Amino acid sequence: MKQILLYFLFMFFVFITHGNSDSTREKYKVIIIGAGISGIGAATHLLKNNFSDIAILEASNRLGGRVYTAPFGDFLIEYGAQWVHGQDSNVVYEIAQPHNFFYVQALDFKNSFVKHSDSKVNLSVVNNWLFDEALGLFYNTDDLISCNCSMEDYFDNKFEELIKKKNVDEYTAQAVADHAKKSQGVHDGTDNLEEEGSWGNSQFIIINGSFTVAWKTGYHSFIDILMGKYEGKELPIIQKTKFNKVVQTINWKGNEVELICEDGTHYFADHIIVTVSLGVLKFSAKTMFNPPLPGNKLIAIESLGFDIVDKIFIQFETRWWPMNFEYMINFLWTNEDKQRFKNESKYGGWGTEIIGFHFVENQPRILEGWVIGETAYLLETLSDDEIIGAVMEVLNWFVGNEYTFSQPINITRSAWASNPFVRGSYSFRTVKSDRLEFTSADIIAEPLSFNQTNPVILFAGEASHNKYFSTVHGALETGWREAKRILNFYLHL
Ligand SMILES: Cc1cc2nc3c(=O)[nH]c(=O)nc-3n(C[C@H](O)[C@H](O)[C@H](O)COP(=O)(O)OP(=O)(O)OC[C@H]3O[C@@H](n4cnc5c(N)ncnc54)[C@H](O)[C@@H]3O)c2cc1C
Repeated sequence: MKQILLYFLFMFFVFITHGNSDSTREKYKVIIIGAGISGIGAATHLLKNNFSDIAILEASNRLGGRVYTAPFGDFLIEYGAQWVHGQDSNVVYEIAQPHNFFYVQALDFKNSFVKHSDSKVNLSVVNNWLFDEALGLFYNTDDLISCNCSMEDYFDNKFEELIKKKNVDEYTAQAVADHAKKSQGVHDGTDNLEEEGSWGNSQFIIINGSFTVAWKTGYHSFIDILMGKYEGKELPIIQKTKFNKVVQTINWKGNEVELICEDGTHYFADHIIVTVSLGVLKFSAKTMFNPPLPGNKLIAIESLGFDIVDKIFIQFETRWWPMNFEYMINFLWTNEDKQRFKNESKYGGWGTEIIGFHFVENQPRILEGWVIGETAYLLETLSDDEIIGAVMEVLNWFVGNEYTFSQPINITRSAWASNPFVRGSYSFRTVKSDRLEFTSADIIAEPLSFNQTNPVILFAGEASHNKYFSTVHGALETGWREAKRILNFYLHL
């Protein structure tokens, strides 16, 4: 009897010290939360420097995060990152270029615009110079800095000056302003230019070279390159990654961190690198960390913008679009045209917000369209048939008289807002973050340290880059930055 009692006492002790029997208790020197490009970048840098006691906890069942190449149609599509933005000193370009993975192309809007046959837009003015000049307004760094206002106010004022000076008619001006704002919205990741800050936007550095360097075999090839697949010495990233591990709680005490996942598993580490998106931080930063994050970090997270950009891919039986459209078709809408379209639409008229379609490398039968902000949120709730219906309405409106096309045979779209492990597309700077006395990206990047010297909780991810935010090259540099921070700490012990 006494032995049975002792046994139960022992089992009770085991239970209260180790939690329930489902939980595992694993300890690592470094745990990286998230296997997007910043997480993989941090892991590969640590492994290359013989720092192998690491693990990656990834919420989804794949590597890459917002780099998401998938088979569709005749080849591959990119739900997320599509192009390498710039060549000179772009770390992605530099690493991948020797492997001959790229098509270097120039995105030229000239001659890509179409209008409804009855529209009052002067198409040749748009195609020849006005659109290029209008879009160029967004890139005058000095003016953006001195305006220190919303991107909406900035653009409206500059554009007004331009059309007055060049004597552009009202309808052409309306259509160009509408398209320029949408195109810039895709670039910046929002349809809310009133929220976007001109000063913060001026801090984004555009790298010289083509802005649309495309991958021959999908952006996913970059993950293979990072892992060393083409150098004959593949780093064990896949082996180090635990998939379907949604980190829910981060308990930090002294120089140890405990991570608790949604499935009840516990992990311990001396250092963690948090690489989750700004969208995830906005959603969970207040509840995830124990003790809570410092006030200025929460303000920085809240102040930056994280909106939504989505893509639609439509596959046709055969290519029907003309060869003289080299790369894309862009739609022009005056206010009057929009209203007329909406009155006739069977699908709520949201097709007016599809910016245009471009062609996809190695995909002769696919058109890729982009939508932003409110329309993207709507898109994510619609059925395939509703999307196809709206797309066909738009195509018929613009080019239905000229070309014959049959119903699409397949469709897919991204759904970045509904993805609980991303919750948006990419970060942008806001009027609010411009008004703070600190740079939000720098505050997000600041580690939480033990004894002021030992970085225990570190932060990476595109939003924490102060000049290459919203990009893959920015994400990669932040992963390296945090891996180096840990290596430096041990170097100076
Ligand atoms: C539609 C779209 C188009 C884009 N186009 C381009 C482009 O052409 N060129 C370009 O340079 N950039 C582009 N980008 C931006 C680029 O994709 C991102 O900047 C970059 O991939 C971000 O990498 P990251 O590591 O910072 O974050 P992420 O890729 O978001 O990685 C974070 C990882 O953390 C995981 N995670 C989240 N929560 C948890 C949790 N609780 N526990 C565990 N894991 C978690 C996620 O699943 C994810 O894998 C585009 C993005 C989108 C959405």
